[in-house]
Amino acid sequence: MDAGITIIGAGVIGLAIAEELSANNGNVFLIEKHRTFGQETSSRNSEVIHAGIYYTKDSLKAKLCLTGNKLLYDYCRKYDIPHNNCGKLIVATTDEEVRIIQGIMQTAAMNGVELVMYDKDRIYDLEPNIFALKALYSPSTGIVDSYSLMKRFETNTLNNGGQIAYGSEVKGIRRIDGGYEISLLDSEKTEYSFTTQIVINSAGLSSDKISEMAGIKDENMKIYFCKGEYFKINPPKNRLLKRLVYPVPHHNMEGIGIHVTVDMGGGVRLGPDVKYLDSNVYDYSLTPSKQEAFWSSARKFLPFLNYDDISPEMAGIRPKIQKKGDPLRDFYISEESRRGYPGFINLVGMESPGLTSSIAIAKYVNTLIGEYNIIL
Ligand SMILES: Cc1cc2nc3c(=O)[nH]c(=O)nc-3n(C[C@H](O)[C@H](O)[C@H](O)COP(=O)(O)OP(=O)(O)OC[C@H]3O[C@@H](n4cnc5c(N)ncnc54)[C@H](O)[C@@H]3O)c2cc1C
Repeated sequence: MDAGITIIGAGVIGLAIAEELSANNGNVFLIEKHRTFGQETSSRNSEVIHAGIYYTKDSLKAKLCLTGNKLLYDYCRKYDIPHNNCGKLIVATTDEEVRIIQGIMQTAAMNGVELVMYDKDRIYDLEPNIFALKALYSPSTGIVDSYSLMKRFETNTLNNGGQIAYGSEVKGIRRIDGGYEISLLDSEKTEYSFTTQIVINSAGLSSDKISEMAGIKDENMKIYFCKGEYFKINPPKNRLLKRLVYPVPHHNMEGIGIHVTVDMGGGVRLGPDVKYLDSNVYDYSLTPSKQEAFWSSARKFLPFLNYDDISPEMAGIRPKIQKKGDPLRDFYISEESRRGYPGFINLVGMESPGLTSSIAIAKYVNTLIGEYNIIL
């Protein structure tokens, strides 16, 4: 075989996997269709290090987020990656929401996540400019500079001896004796192919298509593009907030409301909202006409905000396997021997908290390789 392990997709998850696996294995290849890493979902998100509050107990999302949170803070400290363990407030603005956040506290406790209930005085100490009757404070939530994180994963992969091919798009995957043949198109539109023992599909929004290329087609793994737009709070009012402030979430968790996130540069943004796209097109366009909806939603807990204080900023697309209106789905991470594809590992539906969980996911993938006795 030309390669031992081939990872498809240099987003934050593919890069984390590449670093983890190249530390102990020779012949690790990472293939990415763009000319550099993180050009899709991994650079169009809120950059929040989540605590793991909302996920179903014992789900991969709950477990990998909780472990990933700690691993990510450790990693950021070790490699000097800009991050801020600033904490998050979940704010209740009505009596009904106060009851809901009491329920959230119980779910979080079942997942092993610490939350503290704050009254108005304590909220004022932390964020004097917001309105809330009560709030849950999550001390383990924070933010990270995702570009620096991905850059470090890339550097460590290369230092470990791993190889990265940018500008190379996977066009075909064929099962062969003892592995797979991968066909690629490079940036000069030249076709080439190579063989590999293990394939790790970490292709984000295209991960269902990559799986189908190999022959694994499953309606349960179909990706639905779900767009989220952000508005930024214009200076100087961005300086009125220091940490993350979230409203009470929607009941089916398709998104978690128009929340406030801060970034490492002092920027403050509102969003993302939630809109399933009619077809799977890369639509990152902004919708200025949403200003009224964002403003009126955020004003419930940001009383200082005037209509003109916000402007459209950016959009990202969630790779959801949860159909519109369906209950919450877990990450799909599976070694596909049971379908007749030994050594093929699918990662599909890697939406939030994928950034937080990236290092924990990489370690989980490493154990899958060990469990299935894939010998390199
Ligand atoms: C709006 C929004 C907000 C979010 N906020 C947060 C947050 O605050 N905290 C958090 O933890 N998570 C958050 N997430 C989730 C997080 O961003 C994702 O889980 C994570 O970025 C997914 O990383 P990835 O590597 O799987 O995917 P991607 O970053 O999409 O990378 C996949 C890569 O595969 C490549 N690729 C695809 N097809 C091919 C092919 N045929 N050949 C070669 N390469 C290919 C793509 O070019 C791409 O670079 C958010 C997501 C969104 C959309």
